[in-house]
Amino acid sequence: MALIVQKYGGTSVADPDRMRAVADHVTFTRQHGNDVVVVVSAMGKSTDNLIKLANDVSSTQPGRELDMLLTTGERVSMSLLCMALADRGIEAMSFTGSQVGIVTDTAHGKAKILEVKGGRVRDALAAGKVCVVAGFQGISTDSEITTLGRGGSDTTAVALAAALDAHSCEIYTDVTGVFSADPRIVPQARKLLRINFDEMLEMAGAGSKVLALRSVEFARNHDVPLHVRSSFTWEPGTWVTAEEPSMEDPIISGVVTDVSEAKVTVLGVPDQPGISAALFEPLAEANVNVDMIVQNTSTQGTTDISFTVPIADMGVAEQIVQRVADEIGATGVSHDNDIAKLSLVGAGMKTSPGIAAKMFRTLAHEGVNIEMISTSTIRISVVIASADLERAARTLHAAFGLDSGQAYGAPLPERT
Ligand code: ADP
Ligand code: ASP
Ligand code: MG
Repeated sequence: MALIVQKYGGTSVADPDRMRAVADHVTFTRQHGNDVVVVVSAMGKSTDNLIKLANDVSSTQPGRELDMLLTTGERVSMSLLCMALADRGIEAMSFTGSQVGIVTDTAHGKAKILEVKGGRVRDALAAGKVCVVAGFQGISTDSEITTLGRGGSDTTAVALAAALDAHSCEIYTDVTGVFSADPRIVPQARKLLRINFDEMLEMAGAGSKVLALRSVEFARNHDVPLHVRSSFTWEPGTWVTAEEPSMEDPIISGVVTDVSEAKVTVLGVPDQPGISAALFEPLAEANVNVDMIVQNTSTQGTTDISFTVPIADMGVAEQIVQRVADEIGATGVSHDNDIAKLSLVGAGMKTSPGIAAKMFRTLAHEGVNIEMISTSTIRISVVIASADLERAARTLHAAFGLDSGQAYGAPLPERT
């Protein structure tokens, strides 16, 4: 009997009809002789709505209390799914992250999984039950309820699959797989039949939210094959595995778009040793993920430093940066929320020079101004104005020969 972990995202369980469709599929999987562990996200936009509610009530929002609030979304889904399974004669039990022993560090809002005990899931499976686990949450080493960061149900699923030595981990979502670009932005995106962990890691790291970054890290570290597929069409999707790319694979596997970051610029910074440390150490201590950093050449002993941070961390970052800017005698701080990050990812880049030059030339032809650049061995990212993003992504996708020749055909459920 194979053990399969299935994760259903928010749109997949958004309303009673979707919940019943998911229950049908879990029933089908179970009746084909598999053991099944299901991980569910909160229904539809409920996590966003809970965040809005917290914003309407409070401007302080202690992390512990926000996590208490946000974890309720997944509890709604898990219990409803078990009820729908009961209607189908399937014995199922729901569990919170804490009940299955998903132990995390103490960083509320973006906790890291340290260990998955899984005792109750193993017992329930041994008793012939389907287990339905609330995604996105755990219990900290201080015994507090934590959340794993937005999109964190993917991480719950992969961590459970690793701990239980599952045959595979199926990530059900609202598109039919991993594409060469977000099909909502680039309709000509091509479905990838397979992609390896390193490329998927770069895509997730560049901000593609189809899989949460930590879930891909977990999958790679524990060699858990992932199958990303649609709960709307149920057709085979994309396999994410350790397999190395072959010679026939295209040099570029994807164009990644990300509008979740903002740019901060500290102006007139004294050009002295220790200044960058003074700025970035407190941001790191506050758990703010600084992504791209650019420091201009200094003129007359001062320079400008620009960097990007998640918009969600902007409130915290703003206070820290203003304080440090005052301390180091910088002349000012500015913010720009209307930026976007555009990246090219492909394992073939390692051995093909000239990709960056072609990317920059293509953007120049489109009149798109590049504000920042960063690279890894298999990724090139640029920051541009968000107004240019769609046009730039589509142009790059075509220029690198990725267009599929037909527009994305499956239904695209509306989202925020
Ligand atoms: P879920 O709620 O199921 O976790 P997410 O919104 O987290 O769904 O991820 C699915 C979405 O990811 C898709 O609707 C799509 O718009 C977006 N996406 C971004 N990049 C890609 C990509 N390269 N391939 C497929 N989908 C992508
Ligand atoms: N419900 C959480 C979110 O919206 C976790 C998830 O869906 O993966 O971010
Ligand atoms: Mg997701």
